[in-house]
Amino acid sequence: MELTYSDLDLRLGQPFRISRGTQTIAHNVLVSLTHEGVVGTGEAAPSPYYGEHRATVCAALAVFASELGDDVMQIEAVLNRLDSCLRLNGSAKAAIDIALHDLIGQRLGVPLFQLYGLSAERTPVTSFTIGIDTPSAMARKAAAASAYPILKVKVGTASDRQNLTAIREVSSARIRVDANAAWTAKQAVAALDALREFDLELVEQPVAADDLDGLRFVREHTPLPVIGDESCVVPSDIPRVLGCVDGINIKLVKCGGLRRAFQMIQTARACGLQVMMGCMIESSILITAAAHLSPLLDYADLDGNLLLTDDPYQGVTAERGQLRLPVRPGLGVVQRR
Ligand code: MG
Repeated sequence: MELTYSDLDLRLGQPFRISRGTQTIAHNVLVSLTHEGVVGTGEAAPSPYYGEHRATVCAALAVFASELGDDVMQIEAVLNRLDSCLRLNGSAKAAIDIALHDLIGQRLGVPLFQLYGLSAERTPVTSFTIGIDTPSAMARKAAAASAYPILKVKVGTASDRQNLTAIREVSSARIRVDANAAWTAKQAVAALDALREFDLELVEQPVAADDLDGLRFVREHTPLPVIGDESCVVPSDIPRVLGCVDGINIKLVKCGGLRRAFQMIQTARACGLQVMMGCMIESSILITAAAHLSPLLDYADLDGNLLLTDDPYQGVTAERGQLRLPVRPGLGVVQRR
């Protein structure tokens, strides 16, 4: 297998702010694996929060190039070799995992959802994310997103109440909130209590990633389901968060790709946890990959591509939020012309 990779800069239509920072461009990496004339495509969306940058992705890929071997069907062995030569580096591993899945699907002539035994008729509705801004700007964004029946609103600021009030004036969408670890446990309980009138569906990551006692405290003191995101990165994190959360948010670039995500979904289910899949700022390559597993989810937050001005790829679509999978062999993503 021949591995090549190149820069994939993705521009956002508007700056995207969460409680810990603002992003206007994503410095992602496009990955291609070529085997017997067939090309598999993957993407890395490195997040500095998880210790990755474009430079670390490229360095990891250079290491991985000599570990791939030449049997695309041996995906488990390939991924284990990547894990044993470099720990962590989830987004670099996800890019390889997705490109391998794309190659396997093309070789077998089946879309990835079929490879996983899933039905394209069972996809969920994705939420559309409203980043932190002024109350009027957030209301404007919510109004512009009126086609989406579920909004994920970023919280964790002093003006959460004003922001939600402004959004509720223009939108009757179902609303989930995500604090991205902004609060202490007591702040979270007070903040969520102050937002009670907005009829929220769930809260994501109210407290710091390693504050598991805090997560448990919030869960015990708010009626909302608590979903762990930053607290639950890889499969081995699931036992740690049991009893502290009602569900977990799985991301391909955190856990290392489709195979590890599938493992996390099954493990979470066995533990009685709800399952969300989320994303970073990603092109349709990563979003489509995640969407292939979406029939297994309770909640989908797969909108990273919808926030872009110049997504170079097309794959899954989200008409009124309803995910529609491409029915083509492999990943099913094509380049826009
Ligand atoms: Mg989150």
